[in-house]
Amino acid sequence: MNKTAHIISHSHWDREWYLPFEKHRYYFIQLMNNLIEQFKKEGSGFQSFHLDGQTVLLEDYFAVHPENREIVKQLIKEKKLHIGPWYVLQDAFLTSSEANVRNLLIGMNDTKAYGHVSKIGYFPDTFGIYGQAPQLLKQAGIDTAAFGRGVKPTGFNNTVSDVPDYESPYSEMIWKSPDGSSVLGILFANWYSNGNEIPVDEEEAQAFWDKKLQDAEKYASTNQLLFMNGCDHQPLQKTIPQAIETASALYPDYQFKHSSFDEYTEALKQALPEQLQVIEGELRNQRTDGWSTLVNTASSRIYLKQMNHHCQTLLEKNAEPLAAMLALAGGTYPREYIRFMWKSLMKNHPHDSICGCSVDEVHREMVTRFESVAQMGEVFVEENAAALVQKVDTSQTPEGGIPLVVLNTTGWEKNEVVSKVVDLEKVYFSQMHFEEIPVYLEDQPLPKYKLIDGEGKAVDYQLESPAVEFGYDLPDDKFRQPFFAKRAKLSFFAEGIPSFGYKTFYLVPGAKEEQEYVPSSETQFVMENEYVHLQFHEDGSYDLMHKDTGESFHRLGIYEDTGDIGNEYMYKEAKGHAAITTKGVPAEFKFLERSTLRTVLEFTHKLLIPVSADDHLAMERNRLIWHKEREAGRSDDMTTITMQTVVTLEKGMKGPAFKLTINNQATDHRLRVLFPTGLRTETHKADSIFEIVTRPNTPEKEWENPSFCHHQQRFASLADTTMGLTVATDGLQEYEILEEDGTIAVTVLRSTAELGDWGYFPTPEAQCLGMQTAEWQVLPHEKDVIQSQAFVDAYQYKVPLVSVQTSVHEGSLPETHQFVKTESKGLVWSSLRVAEEHDDVMIRWFNPAEEEVNLKADIQDYESCKSNILEEKTDDTQDSYEVSKYEIITLGFHKKR
Ligand SMILES: [Zn+2]
Repeated sequence: MNKTAHIISHSHWDREWYLPFEKHRYYFIQLMNNLIEQFKKEGSGFQSFHLDGQTVLLEDYFAVHPENREIVKQLIKEKKLHIGPWYVLQDAFLTSSEANVRNLLIGMNDTKAYGHVSKIGYFPDTFGIYGQAPQLLKQAGIDTAAFGRGVKPTGFNNTVSDVPDYESPYSEMIWKSPDGSSVLGILFANWYSNGNEIPVDEEEAQAFWDKKLQDAEKYASTNQLLFMNGCDHQPLQKTIPQAIETASALYPDYQFKHSSFDEYTEALKQALPEQLQVIEGELRNQRTDGWSTLVNTASSRIYLKQMNHHCQTLLEKNAEPLAAMLALAGGTYPREYIRFMWKSLMKNHPHDSICGCSVDEVHREMVTRFESVAQMGEVFVEENAAALVQKVDTSQTPEGGIPLVVLNTTGWEKNEVVSKVVDLEKVYFSQMHFEEIPVYLEDQPLPKYKLIDGEGKAVDYQLESPAVEFGYDLPDDKFRQPFFAKRAKLSFFAEGIPSFGYKTFYLVPGAKEEQEYVPSSETQFVMENEYVHLQFHEDGSYDLMHKDTGESFHRLGIYEDTGDIGNEYMYKEAKGHAAITTKGVPAEFKFLERSTLRTVLEFTHKLLIPVSADDHLAMERNRLIWHKEREAGRSDDMTTITMQTVVTLEKGMKGPAFKLTINNQATDHRLRVLFPTGLRTETHKADSIFEIVTRPNTPEKEWENPSFCHHQQRFASLADTTMGLTVATDGLQEYEILEEDGTIAVTVLRSTAELGDWGYFPTPEAQCLGMQTAEWQVLPHEKDVIQSQAFVDAYQYKVPLVSVQTSVHEGSLPETHQFVKTESKGLVWSSLRVAEEHDDVMIRWFNPAEEEVNLKADIQDYESCKSNILEEKTDDTQDSYEVSKYEIITLGFHKKR
C-alpha cells in the first residue's frame, strides 16, 4: 500500500499565555517575517503554512507591518498561507453560545477579503468541546473538525495512552451532535506536534521517522498520515523541503508531501473505511483518569468570568436587540460598531485568556479590555434606547407627568421589579446661574406622585427621598448641556413587558394608593413572595418552599472551604484536612429593606480558615511536582475571612437572589456554596452551548480524581420526576454534583498561585485576595428544568430590562409595542440582530428537548426564511417552522415586496 505522509507546517499561537500579549507578538512578527521571506525566496521549495485557524493573527501582524498586506493576501489567494475559520481560538465552554457563533461568523467573513478559507473546525488545544459543535460547523458548511483533547486515547502530556477500551480505535471518527448532525472528527492522537522539527540529517531522520510513522499508523484508519510540523509558538522550520527530500529517499514506500488541511482532508475522505466509530456529544476527557481535563480553569480567576458574562449579556441580550428594534422602527443598524465591540470582547476569549491560566500581566490587560467593552456596550445601549424611545408617542402623558419607557430586549415576556433614577425636576445652566440652581431646586416643593400604566391603572411603586445632583446631556447637534436635577430612585413592578417590545409608564401628580404591607416577625428571618417562602437558620442556611406544590428544600446555602494545592488549570485538595463549613456557625442578620416590592436580608459570617497551604507547597511548586503527586496540607496559622451575604426576594421572582461579598485574606483554597437538594438521581442538567446537557452524577470507572467538576454557562439543575432545583449564576462557571444529599456545589472563589503546565510560573494575583463577589439565584420548580420551563427564569437571571425616562413628545410608535410576535414555547431564545452582510433581521433559538416544537414569529410587513448560523438565506419560507430535536434555528426577516 502506498502511503502518504502529509506534513502541515504551523505554529500554535496563544496570543498571550506564559508571556503577555506584546512579548508573544514580538516573536510572532519574527515568525511571519521569516515565513514571507521563505515563500518569496526563489527555489526555497517552501509550499504551505497553516496560520492556526485564527484570523486575529493577521490583525496582530498588520498592526506592525501594514506594508505587507498585499503580499500576505497574495499568499492566501495562492493557497500557500491558510487562514480561518475562527477569529480567535476560543475556549469553547467559558464563552457564550452566541460568542461561539460570532467567532466563526466574524472569522469566516474576515477571510472573504483574502479569497480563501481553511474549512476545518480547528480546535487544536481547546480544553474540551461542546456537543453541538458538529451542528454549528455543519451549518457553516464545514464537515471536518480537528481537535487535540476530549476523546481517549490522549493523556496528560498529550501522549497516547496504552490503556485499552478507547472511545475510538482510530484517530479518525464520526462526531455527532444531539440533533443528529455529524462531521468527520480528526483527533491529534499524537498531539499537534507529531511532525515538529523534522531532521534533515539522514541518520537523525531515520530515528525520527521510524518512531513517528509507527505512532501515526497505530491510530490512522487510512494510508493518509498526518504530521503536524509545529507546536506552541514554534519558530518556522525553513528546512522542511530538505527534510522531505531526506525522508523520501529513506522511505520509498511513502510519499512525503508538504501539505495543507485542504489537501490532507480531501485525500483522507477518499480513503476512509466504511465503518468509523461514532462519538456523540461533548468531548470532555470523561474516559480518562480525570487529572488532566483542565476543567478547573472554570474557577480560576472567577472575576474574569464575571466580567465576561456581563459583557456578553450586554452585547447579546441588550445592545444588539435594541439596535435591531431601532432598525425595525426605521433607524440604521450600526453593524460596524457592533462588530468592533464583538472583536474587542473576543480578544479576551482565547483558551489561555478566559480560562485564567496565564501569568498575571495577561489577566491585568484582560480586565482593561473588559472594561472598554463594558464602556462601549453601556454608551451604545443608552444612546440606542434613547433614540428608540424618541420615536414613541408620549403626547398623551397626563399634565405634569413624566413618561418612562421600559424595554424588554429578550425573547420572553418579563415581569420584574425595575429600579430607575428619575429626574423629577431639572434646571439647565442656560436657564439660571448654576450657583443658584441647587438652592432653588431644594426649595421647590414636589407634588405627590402616582405611577400609572398606559391604561391608567395604578402601579405599586416606591420613590426614595430626592437629592439635588449635577448632570449633563450630550446632544448630537449642540454643545454639552449641564444641569442640576432633583432626582430619586424609583422602583416599581413592571408587569407584562412584552418580548422584543416595551411598555410606557407615567409618573403623574396624584395621590398614591398605599399598599398594605405586613412584615413577618423581625426575629424569624422569613422571606416570602407569591412563589416561594424562605426560613433562615442561625448559620445562614435556609429552607426554601415552592408554594405551588408546598414542597421544600432544606438547609440550602452552606459555605464550604477546602485547601487547594493545584494550579490555574486543576484543583487538588490539600492533604489531610477536612472541609471547613459554615454549618452551625452563627451569622449576624439584619433586614436592609422590607416593602411590598422587595425584602432584602443581610447576614455576615466570620469564618476561621488556614491562612495558606503549608510550607511543603512552595517546594512542590519549585520542583515542578505535578499536581496529582503533591502532598502539601494546610497551614496551622489561621485567619478570618468575612463573608457578607445579601439575599433579595422581589415581587415576581421565582426564587431568592444572593450576592456574596468575601474579604479574602487566605491563599491556596477554594470556597463553594452547597445546595443539598435531597434528590436521588443518576444524572443532572447544565446549561452549555446551545444545549441544556444531561451529564452523569458519577464519573466513569477510569476516573481517579476525587474531584469531578463540570462547566456551566448560566445554570446547573437537579430534578427527580416531581421536583427540581436550578441554580442560576452570574459568571460562576464551575459546579460539582456531590452524591451525598444530591448536592449541587457551586464554586464561588478559587485561590491558587501558579500557572501550571510546562514550568514554574508564579501567579500571585490568581489568589484573588481582597474583596471578591459572587451572585446566584435559587429556583425551585416542579419536574425538571426543561419540562417545567424553569430554564426561562434561569436564562433571564441578570438580563436586565432597559428603562428610559423621556420627554412628552409625538412619535411614530405606540405607547406599548411588540416588534416581533412569537409563539415559541419550549424554545430557548438566543439572539436578535441585523445580519453582518445584509439587512435581514435575524433571530435565533434552539430546541433544548427531544420533542419537536412549532415556531411562529411575525414582524409586521416582513416575511421570514430559514437561515443558518452564517446568516445565509434559503428558500425555506413558511408561516411556522417545525424545530426538530436539539435544532439551532435562525430565521431571517426581510421586508415584503
Ligand atoms: Zn493553546
